[in-house]
Amino acid sequence: MDSGRGRGVAELVAAGERSFSFEFFPPKDEAGEAQLWKAIQDLEPFEPSFVSVTYGAGGSNRDTTIRVTGRIARETSMTPMAHLTCVGHTRKELDEILDSYLAAGVDHVMALRGDPQEGPRADWTPTEGGLDYATELVELAHARGRFRIGVAAFPEGHPSAESLDHDADVLVAKARAGAEFAVTQMFFRAEDYFGLVDRVRARGVDMPILPGIMPILNLNAIRRQSELIGTDVPEDVVARISAKDGDPVAMRAEGIALAAELCQDLLEGGAPGLHFYTLNRSKATLEIFQALKITV
Ligand code: FAD
Repeated sequence: MDSGRGRGVAELVAAGERSFSFEFFPPKDEAGEAQLWKAIQDLEPFEPSFVSVTYGAGGSNRDTTIRVTGRIARETSMTPMAHLTCVGHTRKELDEILDSYLAAGVDHVMALRGDPQEGPRADWTPTEGGLDYATELVELAHARGRFRIGVAAFPEGHPSAESLDHDADVLVAKARAGAEFAVTQMFFRAEDYFGLVDRVRARGVDMPILPGIMPILNLNAIRRQSELIGTDVPEDVVARISAKDGDPVAMRAEGIALAAELCQDLLEGGAPGLHFYTLNRSKATLEIFQALKITV
């Protein structure tokens, strides 16, 4: 793998290379920070095109996103991408956060609307003086001329989207507003990803869409999360994992095998790379790389 700090995802993909990237969340305490940092160090040799840090629903973990992405910029060779959401922020505050990202050496931003504090299925609560759609945040970041901007995409449609076609229109609007690439929500059927890519290409947009990979290491937890975010866990996937019920080691191995098969199908079908939801651990991602015979 070869990314090299400074090269953007679109540039990399246009040059015929694949983009591999890893997502982390802001740690809550010192132990969490140590675990995150170990994962970062384990994965750094793979020279990801970027590593991203999510943005929380509120409180101090929002500052942690700025701090951790700044630390990655200072202490590693990797390109950090800070997530940012519109939840609870005025436009002025969002401008200030974008400033603080730049001041910390972070010039990749994942521009998101975010979910209401009550969860992904709750109605959107506007903030006075704030923004209501990710497109507006893309515009705000793009206007500075200094950010490379990523956005969210949904192979099965956003849970509150009117239709898959409308969802594709929204993604296209984000590209036209200045987004350089998209990262998808987790999904378990390659055809859902390729369907989204086809809808976006049919609208004349060639933005790279990186598939988001979440291996199933705990079936019940993934089912709960999937229900919230509108991802279907297919029956054949459930059956393969459930067949190992009672043997946690075999269950985990099956989850990794399923993720590796999905990655293989995606790459063979022309996906421009893979984005891993790591949950701040490196083990599962390293196992998937091993299964795919991807080495440093
Ligand atoms: P938008 O693109 O604004 O879409 C939100 C809804 O509005 C959709 O239903 C869309 O169809 C609709 N819509 C958009 N524009 C219009 C319009 N002009 N007219 C009518 N309807 C419209 N959440 C966090 O809180 N923190 C994170 O760090 C985070 N990281 C994420 C990373 C990835 C890769 C993904 C896929 C999701 C992430 N999320 C995160 C979750 C995300 O914030 C939610 O899914 C949120 O509900 C939608 O965000 P969005 O940026 O896609 O919003």
